[in-house]
Amino acid sequence: MGILGGGQLGLMMILEGRKLGVKFLVHDGDPQAPALSASDGRYIGDSWMELVNKSDIVTFEFEHVNPSAIKMAEEEGKLRPGSLTIRLKQDKIIEKSFLRDRGFSTPSFMVINNMDDVGRAIRRFGKVVFKVPRGAYDGKGQYYVMNGDGANGVPREFPLLAEEFVDIHREVSVILVRSSDGHVLTYPVTENHHYNGILLYSISPARIDDEIANRARELAIGLANTLDYVGVLTVEFFVTRNGEVLINEFAPRVHNSGHWTLMGAAVSQFENHIRAILGMPIGPTELL
Ligand code: ADP
Repeated sequence: MGILGGGQLGLMMILEGRKLGVKFLVHDGDPQAPALSASDGRYIGDSWMELVNKSDIVTFEFEHVNPSAIKMAEEEGKLRPGSLTIRLKQDKIIEKSFLRDRGFSTPSFMVINNMDDVGRAIRRFGKVVFKVPRGAYDGKGQYYVMNGDGANGVPREFPLLAEEFVDIHREVSVILVRSSDGHVLTYPVTENHHYNGILLYSISPARIDDEIANRARELAIGLANTLDYVGVLTVEFFVTRNGEVLINEFAPRVHNSGHWTLMGAAVSQFENHIRAILGMPIGPTELL
């Protein structure tokens, strides 16, 4: 198996996949990337083509990997999951529009093309989160306008995504695994706590009503089916104080809010991702 991206999620995939007898090749631009040292073959810099050639199946542990590598792996029929999810994740405007157009509830949003639109968003939503659509993660590229404090901090680079500021009761994620024949298992809904935009700790199962947890699970399963997804998919939600369940974003990969599954679930998200994309039976996801 080839893994594009050599971060900690790739490292954990390798450690878990070894139990199944899988050999791993890893590509990363950075020779210090942690998964490289645990791999059976290291590919650095421009050598991704060789990795795709030598792998039977190619997956990724990060959605901002080399687009040429993704394209080649897909053309050779080796890429799992498919490139649709990667294309959606290149741009927050494309991702949110896809979700809305297919009927998934998200925070209300507008696409901002000029300073007039910035004013319109502030009038419409009152409290607004402006987001740079491309290349931002871990809460970077976000600008908050609260209580009419004007548009001064908002960058004049367009387009931007403007979202209503949501009164969040809890942030939760659903990690699920879907096999190529459409069988889906979800891990318990997990609640996530961030510090400076970075996940600090998670609690699973999340401290939310069963009814809300079931709604989140059903939305996540609906999204996986809509994407005809194979492998582990993570869907992040805002649960509002009014009990709404809104999709914030998804990650087409294993996720740091599921590190606990290494020892806390019967089969970890990492092992299940590998099982699903290799066409092996997927394993039980319940909390031990
Ligand atoms: P990233 O992709 O950089 O992680 P997100 O869009 O997931 O960015 O936002 C990061 C964090 O910012 C969220 O986990 C949440 O705490 C906060 N946030 C994002 N969008 C909103 C919103 N519309 N209303 C309130 N808080 C938000």
